[in-house]
Amino acid sequence: MSTNQINKINLELIQKASKMIVDAKSLVILTGAGISTESGIPDFRTPGTGLWSKYNPDDFSHFLHEPSLFWKMIREIGPGFYKAKPNSGHEVIAELDKMGLLNGLITQNIDGLHQKAGSPIVHELHGNATEMKCIACHGRFDIEKIIKNHKSNEDHIPADCPQCGAYLTLNVVLFDQFLPRGPWLESVTLAQKADVMLVAGSSLVVYPANELPIYTLKNNGKLIIINNEETDLDSRAEILLRGQAGKILQDILKEVKNLAKESAPSKEKFKKIKFK
Ligand code: NAD
Repeated sequence: MSTNQINKINLELIQKASKMIVDAKSLVILTGAGISTESGIPDFRTPGTGLWSKYNPDDFSHFLHEPSLFWKMIREIGPGFYKAKPNSGHEVIAELDKMGLLNGLITQNIDGLHQKAGSPIVHELHGNATEMKCIACHGRFDIEKIIKNHKSNEDHIPADCPQCGAYLTLNVVLFDQFLPRGPWLESVTLAQKADVMLVAGSSLVVYPANELPIYTLKNNGKLIIINNEETDLDSRAEILLRGQAGKILQDILKEVKNLAKESAPSKEKFKKIKFK
């Protein structure tokens, strides 16, 4: 199929998706690593650039036994996360939230870019790699400051918690660990109540996050999937948008604004919005 044909099909689908978003009683967005590749953070699975090809994430759990390896990885990976800037995909999601259209934002990402883009509440399922957390008091600390304060000749020991003195580790969930209870339970409730779930930039292969769209489907909700390659739930999506998440979300926002403007006089939820 030619690029023009794909663009034409996408345009119709964008219009349908935007209508679903505007009409939704409870819209929930679930994002994955693909929403942040346009900010320069590689995902795990894209061949060649994926983080998996360079690092074994389980090595992060060796912060006590092999602190030097831990610090080597933290010093290499850390700046990529804390220096990254949100892209148009994150910005559109924050804007939908500001318009009052979003009931919940759930992310598998650990980059904190939704918050940087202005999304006020983000249910982070896998933690946040811009923070280190204390294994004793659970305090969380900005990773940039911790890295700067940890002298490289001390990389054979873990960092101390500035609050209680116990050891700090990266605030992320590794493969053999449970998801943080609060964000997970809140996400399940959001997914069950959603009449529309939009999934952007996720292969939907990581368990249990990939169960969330299934909760929505089981409760008769509908799925919109935006991804540049196939996902495990494509066959069950109402709308499937293939391409770069940032551009597709920008197109959706434009259409959503048009639809919201048209229906503002009759729909209570749009009356307070100031359209530019
Ligand atoms: P994934 O790597 O399994 O899937 C990402 C999907 O996004 C892929 O199918 C890829 O083709 C697609 N994609 C890449 N760039 C895209 C773009 N610009 N537009 C549209 N689609 C794009 O990621 P996942 O499903 O989130 O699950 C894997 C795990 O990756 C999660 O546990 C997450 O914690 C972790 N992770 C997070 C980050 C981050 O925080 N940015 C980065 C790498 C990995």
